[in-house]
Amino acid sequence: MSEQQSFDVVVIGSGPGGYVAAIRAAQLGLKTACIEKDKTLGGTCLNVGCIPSKALLDSSEQYAHTKHKLGVHGIVVKDVGLDLGTMMKRKEAVVGDLTKGIAFLFKKNKVTWLPGHGRLVSATQVEVKKSDGTTEVVTAKNIILATGSVPASLPTAPYDGKRIVDSTEALSLSQIPEKLLVIGGGAIGLEMGSVWSRLGTKVTVVEFQDRIVPFADRQMGAALLKILTAQGLEFKLSTKVTAAKVEGKKVYVEMEDAAGKKDRVEADYVLVSIGRKPYSEGLGLKELGIPQDKLGRVEVDAHFQTSVKGVYAIGDLVRGPMLAHKAEDEGVAVAEIIAGQAGHVNYDVIPNVVYTWPELATVGLSEEECKAKGITYNTGTFPFLANGRAKAMAETDGLVKIIADAKTDKLLGMHIVGPRASDMIGEAVMVMEFGGSAEDIARSCHAHPTLPEAIKEAALAVAKRQIHL
Ligand code: FAD
Repeated sequence: MSEQQSFDVVVIGSGPGGYVAAIRAAQLGLKTACIEKDKTLGGTCLNVGCIPSKALLDSSEQYAHTKHKLGVHGIVVKDVGLDLGTMMKRKEAVVGDLTKGIAFLFKKNKVTWLPGHGRLVSATQVEVKKSDGTTEVVTAKNIILATGSVPASLPTAPYDGKRIVDSTEALSLSQIPEKLLVIGGGAIGLEMGSVWSRLGTKVTVVEFQDRIVPFADRQMGAALLKILTAQGLEFKLSTKVTAAKVEGKKVYVEMEDAAGKKDRVEADYVLVSIGRKPYSEGLGLKELGIPQDKLGRVEVDAHFQTSVKGVYAIGDLVRGPMLAHKAEDEGVAVAEIIAGQAGHVNYDVIPNVVYTWPELATVGLSEEECKAKGITYNTGTFPFLANGRAKAMAETDGLVKIIADAKTDKLLGMHIVGPRASDMIGEAVMVMEFGGSAEDIARSCHAHPTLPEAIKEAALAVAKRQIHL
């Protein structure tokens, strides 16, 4: 019998939580391995999440821009065509490059990649089941669980993998549907809805709540709703899907609104995007007595440690927003804690972006959250319509909203609907990390003409001293 491989750290799962934890642990001098059951590294984010969705969002936006927006710049483009096959191949190439990049980073940092399904055997042992059915048990002083999440299912519209699909399948449709019904008005539903809408699909979004992007400040959600509606997406809010039936190549979806009014909608595809659930199948949690909450999230303490000493959990598998950068930051923090350092994640300052066009980016508290916490606050807003660069770009939809503490002026939240909001939100993150105020932003020199000048103007508006409106 060959001797068991032993490591300081074994990570199960190679998504943004797992691969980052493995690299950071190795950087800190710990002998590290990462177990991954799928063929490629990178998890949901790189393979079927953030990256392929953004590749399609960028491609489809280029198409929609060329078709509908170049005219105002005096650029005449005739016969704009679409080659969906090439668009999909480009997406796959982007994914391929980045997943191979993780394999390269593992090699560079001397992280051992153990392909196979990982299962906890004890607090210091993990069984790796390989694709050929053979198993190997490795020992570890510390184990990090980073097995991520999978799409949640809806009993009234069960997935059939062909016509009623999840986000993974919606990223790879082989032809442009005539009609797509999206269940769920959150980030994934709006992003995938935008992709197919731009390519010519009639998209209807059904949302149980009375608003889209329920995690965002209500005013900003309403602004995005108005813009997406003007782009041609149809929304049915306060509506629940009661049944979905596949007949041949069509899906017939029954729904009911809050007033009890019933409707029946026909679609070529239905995308169920009502959220994601933590994934821990075959991980051996129960056998080791590691508790999970009623949503299936592994319970951890402030140092990411489960009830079993030396077994940690991070990313989508634990509490907090299901976001790649949150998982990454937890990966760094847990590796540093294991190495005896003071790893830490500031959960008050985690940005959240919806990559529609324009984008919605948000960090910190919304007005509703301030009210619920009894915090008195001031707000300042500034529309992109009054921003010189947005005018020059002919991209004037949206606004910046700043929320500052009424007593101290400390920045509590920033919310942006606008072009490249995802890139702009970093300014708010930095100011909030340093405990800065709206006044700090207002007094910082912003290059002209740029989109972030709208942030400065919104900060000035908090003190009711805007210049350009
Ligand atoms: P995951 O990325 O889910 O990785 C878990 C890994 O563990 C997987 O590779 C899985 O195969 C592996 N695994 C599971 N069990 C085992 C086992 N027992 N043994 C071995 N391996 C195992 N977030 C953003 O921040 N920005 C975005 O723009 C964004 N867009 C998204 C778009 C879509 C369509 C989707 C679906 C998600 C998106 N997300 C986005 C969310 C983001 O992908 C997740 O929050 C992130 O991937 C979570 O990282 P993780 O490391 O916790 O888990």
